[in-house]
Amino acid sequence: MALATDIKPPPSAPKLIEDLTFLNEVVERTAGVSRLEMCIQCGTCGGSCPSAADMDHTPRMLFAMIRAGMRQAVLMSNTPWICVSCYHCVVRCPQNVHIADVMYTLKSMAIEAKLYRDSTAPDFSKTFVDMVEEYGRSYEFGLATRHYLKHFPLRLPGMSPMALGMLTKERMSIRPKRIKNIKQLKAILQRAKELDVKAQRPVA
Ligand code: SF4
Ligand code: SF4
Repeated sequence: MALATDIKPPPSAPKLIEDLTFLNEVVERTAGVSRLEMCIQCGTCGGSCPSAADMDHTPRMLFAMIRAGMRQAVLMSNTPWICVSCYHCVVRCPQNVHIADVMYTLKSMAIEAKLYRDSTAPDFSKTFVDMVEEYGRSYEFGLATRHYLKHFPLRLPGMSPMALGMLTKERMSIRPKRIKNIKQLKAILQRAKELDVKAQRPVA
């Protein structure tokens, strides 16, 4: 008969070590505080998102993939590019995750890694940023015209009725309007760029 002292304890289960490198990278690269690590996977963001139907992963799923270290799949996802920064999810997230800001980070990382699938998307983003730097605000008419002329010229005539409707209802202006204190804004943006370069410079 086996004595109690002869019974060996079962081997302990192997420890699961989570690799949070990618998650930490996204968190660090997001301007301000992202709170991405606080996501509880409740799905409120996807349920609130007007663009979710066109996304290949809902924001909730994308954040789970980030936690799982699926770098390539995340950076190839169309989700950040489909996000229209409406902030609907941000105001409803119970964990106050700065979802739209994380989407910007992912876009920038996808451009760096050249993993975006829609080759026109980074160009659209760059034109948008250039216009904000020039006028201090978005200039929708110029942005859309330039984008369609450059990438989809044959689709331009089909867009005309919508553009005309927006122009006549004054939802869009044919000429760009520059904000009053554009010089201050340019100085702020210049300083931000300098700080960004400094932050990315490797320590010697
Ligand atoms: S709403 Fe917030 S906590 Fe819920 S899944 Fe989305 S990011 Fe995570
Ligand atoms: S900010 Fe982006 S992800 Fe959030 S609800 Fe709006 S479109 Fe969807």
